[in-house]
Amino acid sequence: MQQKRGRYAPSPTGYLHVGNARTALVAWLSVRSAYGRCIWRLEDLDKPRVVPGMAEAAEEDLHWLGLDWDEGLTQGGPFKPYTQSLRHSYYEQALKVLHDKGYLFPCSYSRKDIQHLSTAPHGPNTHKPYPISLRPDELQENWFSELFEEIKQSNKPTTFAAIRFKVPDQMITFKDRVYGLIEENVLESVGDFVLKRRDGMYAYQLAVVVDDVAMEISEVVRGTDLLASTARQILLIQALGGIVPEYAHVPLVRNASGEKLSKRDESLTLRALRAKGVTAEQLLGYMAHSLGLVESLRSCTVQEVLDRFAWDRIKKEDFILPTDFVDQLKKL
Ligand code: GLU
Repeated sequence: MQQKRGRYAPSPTGYLHVGNARTALVAWLSVRSAYGRCIWRLEDLDKPRVVPGMAEAAEEDLHWLGLDWDEGLTQGGPFKPYTQSLRHSYYEQALKVLHDKGYLFPCSYSRKDIQHLSTAPHGPNTHKPYPISLRPDELQENWFSELFEEIKQSNKPTTFAAIRFKVPDQMITFKDRVYGLIEENVLESVGDFVLKRRDGMYAYQLAVVVDDVAMEISEVVRGTDLLASTARQILLIQALGGIVPEYAHVPLVRNASGEKLSKRDESLTLRALRAKGVTAEQLLGYMAHSLGLVESLRSCTVQEVLDRFAWDRIKKEDFILPTDFVDQLKKL
């Protein structure tokens, strides 16, 4: 059997918080428990959101916790570069493949136009799928190469046509290791989705798939907030002729008011906890307990958590952080 390859793929937009660390821990445990390879990939395509220094900080913080990586920005490896902003040529190549297979079309509508034109019977606040009626009947022969030429020539911010993926009317079925069998018809839930945005940026859905396939990722472990992207990614992988990895989505950590933690929750970053004197073992023990891996709430070494790791122990519910979280941690 081939060696398992899993990845952690942070976006360097802020310091990692307890929720990010919990997901990274599970991704690492799953690979290490199977003697596989851990890959670190930086997802920095959204340049305006990138904060300088956060890529290094993320790696350092997880290293403090006891997690290590076999391939990545600092380790190098056979699939370098491991930084998405240096991988544009891979995304362009993948778009060419999809274009040649007839999967793509240009779309000049803004998000507002699309919401307006959509007649789907959804409530006012729910996402409406891209209306199939907006697919062009005919395409200009050279639209794809002309669009790339236009993007290359332009040196100022401008809007181009977006490139969308023509979604086949097909039920996607996959087994998530935490949530079980998931079925989704992307044409009904999302419709034709964007692979290259109107500002010329490659979309997350495309970049993640191209990189997972190119880096021979065999298992994707990430937060539950990305569960809704998985069917789209499977469609893309199939269209590109790649191998679909296994998926596991880790329940989220929420604050006491039930909101998903964000990088703005500064007091819950690994940096802030460390500055308050929390140790890696205290945080590891707390996270392992919240995940269902360790019965009692106590400090644990990374090896102890690794010894107890099993997917069927992972709790399916999101974890709500109590308000006295830091005090509890420090008492462990
Ligand atoms: N870069 C994404 C994030 O930080 C993760 C993407 C993925 O794991 O597919 O949320």
